[in-house]
Amino acid sequence: MLYLILGIITTAFAVVGVAVWAYGISRMVRVLRVGRPVEAARKADFGRRITNTLIETVGHTRMLKWRWIGIAHWFIMVSFPALVFTVAEAHGEVWDPRFHLPIIHDWTIYGLFIEVIAALSLAGIIGLTIYRQLRGPRVLGRRSKFANSRHWTAYYVEAYIIALLVSIFVIRGVKVAMGDFAFPVWATPVSHAFGAVLPASEPLLASVAAFKLIISWLFFIAIGVFLTMGVAWHRFTAPVNIYFKRNADGSAALGPAKQMLNKDGEPLDFEEADPDEDPFGVGKIEDFTWKGLLDFTTCTECGRCQSQCPAWNTGKPLSPKKLVMDLREHAYAKAPYLMQGLTEETPDLHDDVLALLSRPLVGTEEENGVIHPDVLWSCTNCGACVEQCPVDIEHIDHILDMRRYQVMIESSFPSEANTLLKNLENKGNPWGMSESKRMDWISEVDFEVPVVEDKLPEGTEYLFWVGCAGALEDRAKKTTKAVAELLHIAGVKYAVLGGMEMCTGDSARRLGMEFVFQMLAQQNIETLNEVGATRIVVTCPHCFNTLGNEYPQLGGNYEVVHHTKLLAQLVKEGRLAPIERVDKNVTYHDPCFLGRHNKIYEPPRELITGVPGVNKTEMPRNRERSFCCGAGGARMWMEERIGKRINTERVEEALSTKPDLIATGCPFCQVMVSDAVNEKKAKKEAAESVEVMDVAQLLLQSAKKEGEQPKETV
Ligand code: SF4
Ligand code: SF4
Repeated sequence: MLYLILGIITTAFAVVGVAVWAYGISRMVRVLRVGRPVEAARKADFGRRITNTLIETVGHTRMLKWRWIGIAHWFIMVSFPALVFTVAEAHGEVWDPRFHLPIIHDWTIYGLFIEVIAALSLAGIIGLTIYRQLRGPRVLGRRSKFANSRHWTAYYVEAYIIALLVSIFVIRGVKVAMGDFAFPVWATPVSHAFGAVLPASEPLLASVAAFKLIISWLFFIAIGVFLTMGVAWHRFTAPVNIYFKRNADGSAALGPAKQMLNKDGEPLDFEEADPDEDPFGVGKIEDFTWKGLLDFTTCTECGRCQSQCPAWNTGKPLSPKKLVMDLREHAYAKAPYLMQGLTEETPDLHDDVLALLSRPLVGTEEENGVIHPDVLWSCTNCGACVEQCPVDIEHIDHILDMRRYQVMIESSFPSEANTLLKNLENKGNPWGMSESKRMDWISEVDFEVPVVEDKLPEGTEYLFWVGCAGALEDRAKKTTKAVAELLHIAGVKYAVLGGMEMCTGDSARRLGMEFVFQMLAQQNIETLNEVGATRIVVTCPHCFNTLGNEYPQLGGNYEVVHHTKLLAQLVKEGRLAPIERVDKNVTYHDPCFLGRHNKIYEPPRELITGVPGVNKTEMPRNRERSFCCGAGGARMWMEERIGKRINTERVEEALSTKPDLIATGCPFCQVMVSDAVNEKKAKKEAAESVEVMDVAQLLLQSAKKEGEQPKETV
């Protein structure tokens, strides 16, 4: 009778569990369909995408960026499909405790496989649960990567997995005690250990099997009902999210900014855009693509993004994790009404529904906004969140889309950025200086710098793209002059555009002002094509990213190289020889748009270590986990009013390495870092002798011999 009751109850749980889970899936799909279409590229390249999905999920390549957590999680992931066998067996055991799976039930390899997976998964989940306690907000407060996570969902999942795994060993142990266990001790030691202390009891075995089934199906029922539990759902949605990521080659959504799309998911053409149909960015949750909504659904609340975010780490309200969670909550609250065809214009809506449907996506507390403007404008586009996210969520794309709507439709953005936009539109550079000023640095060097008049001179190897900072900002001009001189010494044939060069538009684009970006980009592309440029060397990683990765979106295709890479190559070829000793401790700050966005980490380091006498040190946060200087995402042009200054935080880290020199490879970084160093010097918190310079300046100190005459260039 007991077995009949247990059998009926567990079968009922299974039926309800499958039905509710299937309902949950169908509801999720309907919610995702509220979003707009994705670009065609996300649906192309099946072979590469499926291969990458398998590598990332089965190989756990992104999870393993945090080594032991990745290993523990791998076993837990594998336990899910593996332990389906034990769930199937339990459905027989509740009816008949002596039930065994057909065929494989006495295969030692099967017994060993389940034993290993269950034991290591149990160790893994207990380890992760302890880690959550030790690194949780109660211990670490805001610094905890779990701050902002909803803890009950995590505890629920952790408790479910622990109970499931323990019940497997209890069932096996009772079988051992009953003498009904086919596997040897060497293959199943944990089960035999349980067997040594458990009684031989068929009713106990059936009851534990029933418990195991009930908690298993309760898990499916719970996630079917609580759809927004990414902690639980990611085991189903993460592979899909990874498959449809922006880049079919498997790389993260870094480098170029996402193109604006029209209502059909094609690149938006401003001249043909229909203002009523084609969204200029994202102003409502339903303006996100379905892939955006899938991103929000999939977030596991692991907090890796938050732990790396420079804004969050310096006391600003932006947490990339919380941003994604808030968007998810709003999407799942609003979508049911949108699915019914309701809008805020629908007559006779209940007040609560009207408030939800008309809730602004970006707005202050008084405006009942989902995302506070201070959150949106705190982002430096540094890419640390995207780099770390184990399920390939594309935070920057979403932030940028919301910024685009705020800037182009609402005209709502930090007032300081007005000056930037005005200067870019009227003068083609962020400082609003006249174009003739771009040539000033040339008169400050004692060698000839060829300026293009019409076409690039015959034999030119590189067009040297100087950039606005490189031409107009005093500290960055030193880098420009150093690079020009090094190219000169190496005998590289180069030329510059002089007054014909305009801002690449990076800051305008990252601010969200796509009109101005496209205007500048088209003018630059026209100029570059007219002069016949094909190979370009740049000193600014933002120009590097824009020219090399974003101009192809508008038809401008060039081979673009960052100066650190070209200089490293020239040193290798023997065309530059760093021979003078520079006896200094040097630490290197990775610029986000050179490192994370474009994966150039080693050439600048090779240049530094190639200088005789230099002692290179690394900051604790370096390479892909480098900490931003605070200037990206157009933040260079905005006041930093909330929290600690990002550049101060970075410089404190740099100073902890006791440097004589902080080297970098970006004019924005150079400005931000040297500003913070000067502040520290004023407060007597840094030695007067600490210098900040570009890697090229350091190389020049070593490669330039007294009295050396530059080789002839074009
Ligand atoms: S891009 Fe950088 S600043 Fe922006 S949310 Fe991500 S980690 Fe934070
Ligand atoms: S967005 Fe990605 S990294 Fe951030 S909490 Fe969610 S899953 Fe983790």
